[in-house]
Amino acid sequence: MQPLHDAPSPTRPTPSPIGPWLWTRRDALPPLRYHAARIEIGVPHEIAEGVFLLRLPLPFALKHINVYLLPEADGWSVVDTGIDTEASRAVWERVFQHPRFAGRTLRRIVVTHHHPDHIGLAGWLAERCGAPVLMTRGELEVAGRYADPARDVVAERTPLWNEHGLPADVAQGLYRHMPRYGVQVCALPAQVADIDPTRPLALGERWWTPVIGQGHSPDHLSLLRDDGQVLIGGDQVLPEITPNIAVWPGGDQNPLRSYLASLQRFEGFDASTLLLPSHRQPAYGIATRVDEIRAHHEERLLTLLQACERPMTGYEFLPTLFGRALRHEEIGFGLGEAIAHLNFLEDEGLLASSLDSHGCRRFMRT
Ligand SMILES: [Zn+2]
Repeated sequence: MQPLHDAPSPTRPTPSPIGPWLWTRRDALPPLRYHAARIEIGVPHEIAEGVFLLRLPLPFALKHINVYLLPEADGWSVVDTGIDTEASRAVWERVFQHPRFAGRTLRRIVVTHHHPDHIGLAGWLAERCGAPVLMTRGELEVAGRYADPARDVVAERTPLWNEHGLPADVAQGLYRHMPRYGVQVCALPAQVADIDPTRPLALGERWWTPVIGQGHSPDHLSLLRDDGQVLIGGDQVLPEITPNIAVWPGGDQNPLRSYLASLQRFEGFDASTLLLPSHRQPAYGIATRVDEIRAHHEERLLTLLQACERPMTGYEFLPTLFGRALRHEEIGFGLGEAIAHLNFLEDEGLLASSLDSHGCRRFMRT
């Protein structure tokens, strides 16, 4: 793994009242430019030379995920796999009949991170095609922990959610509807190959350099093509939406700082480098998007700081943070995001928190 926290970069000219992690370049960058391709669900689309985007359906608000197919002289490789549903499997069955992929051997299944929409069908593809699965060690560890049938999600989450003020009846409702990891994710093969973050990977007749990120997941893999012109970004840098940065039990307690630190690894890319994201439309202007994401988190942090005139719990912040009432299935992610922003502000010395006699934590401006 790369060091968890890089130092804040000294080169950004617009300071933030929140501190050096949020400095932006604002107007110094060209605007983000979307790729013109019209992408249909289930139809492989050659988005860059030798790189096919395959859009798979998702049964929740994100609606779809982009995975990438890389044909080779004697086979092909894939980066990410979709969630395990009948609809995703049906798309893959059509890919196996597609003229570019039919009759060719799937050689490698690379997974960017452990979230179900990315890893879901890796085990199924491995079994069906006899191809190895490759992942970073940190992501494999979490995937193994989440897939453990003995895992008790309720026992795991209750202390954190209690501490941050989630009412017991709301928590009960969340537990009732929480999808199980093992339902969305096919069992992985017994052997999964480690990705060495310091060594380029051969995929689709090219070399791809790993760019490791934290904050959204612990050891997230993005891949930069050897000519520097294509980045398979995973969820680390997304256009139009920002990746969920949340505190989960047993995980990174300051994932926002980890995320902002790893974003610096993405700000040096050329404006001509094509970002191939896991969700939404491919785009040019990765450095611009990095800056926009920083500005987004800065705005959220300033909103929280302003609200912290009186002591508040993480749960009480949700309407302020999101500017609307969250749908039921959004509350877990939303609360995790709120805690991530609050912990960040506390570590930066801008908020202080204390526990009451019920073990409930409240934050207030210093
Ligand atoms: Zn993800």
